Amino acid sequence: MWNILRSISDFVTPPLCPLCGKELTTAKERLCVDCEKELPLWPERRCKGCGGANDSYLDLCRNCQQIPGGRPWRIAVSAMPYYGSVREAVHRFKYREKAYFLPFLAGRMADEWLKMASEVEVDAVTYIPLHWRRYLQRGYNQSEMLAKYLASRLGRPCIRTLRRVRKTSQQATLDQTARMANIRKAFAPVGSEKLSGLRLLLVDDVFTTGATLGEATKTLLKAGASEVSVITAARD
Ligand SMILES: [Zn+2]
Ligand SMILES: [Zn+2]
Repeated sequence: MWNILRSISDFVTPPLCPLCGKELTTAKERLCVDCEKELPLWPERRCKGCGGANDSYLDLCRNCQQIPGGRPWRIAVSAMPYYGSVREAVHRFKYREKAYFLPFLAGRMADEWLKMASEVEVDAVTYIPLHWRRYLQRGYNQSEMLAKYLASRLGRPCIRTLRRVRKTSQQATLDQTARMANIRKAFAPVGSEKLSGLRLLLVDDVFTTGATLGEATKTLLKAGASEVSVITAARD
């Protein structure tokens, strides 16, 4: 009920800052000025492999340079570093206040994509699916919500391309080797005849090791997509 009242009030009064609850001065703002100032930001040099800070003179950070065979996507962009208020925002978006945080997180993703990857052509936006059992528990897929918002900003369709073929353990509880084993063969394409030749932008909420995005990207490429790029709200 509170959520309904709050979304009705968004139309009549300026909306509230999702982080601190202070009234925003214009409907266009996504956070209040104070919370905006507190946001963790990226340094100038960014890695094209993981979207994070780049500690090398090449396009890829040292960590990405060491991935055997390289990252399977064309470019990875991440809107913000995953700490401080961004960590809090992603957490609250994922577990409680979905609608409230969506414009802030997905809006930053769209801004960052246009800034970092404006030369990359995309035919459609897609997302990491949840296993149906987890979807029923949570009631929504946070990555799908981000993807839909982003797709409308980029003027591209948002399409479902993948499904989970088995339930995996929560990646957050595992180390990097275990994450890769856990996620192997976790996805299957949906309607692969439609994927042929498409350049896709794959959306997830947080980039940690890239194991989930890597497995999903390989599945999409095997199903006929011609190119995949990835974007996340945050990079851990
Ligand atoms: Zn605020
Ligand atoms: Zn990197």
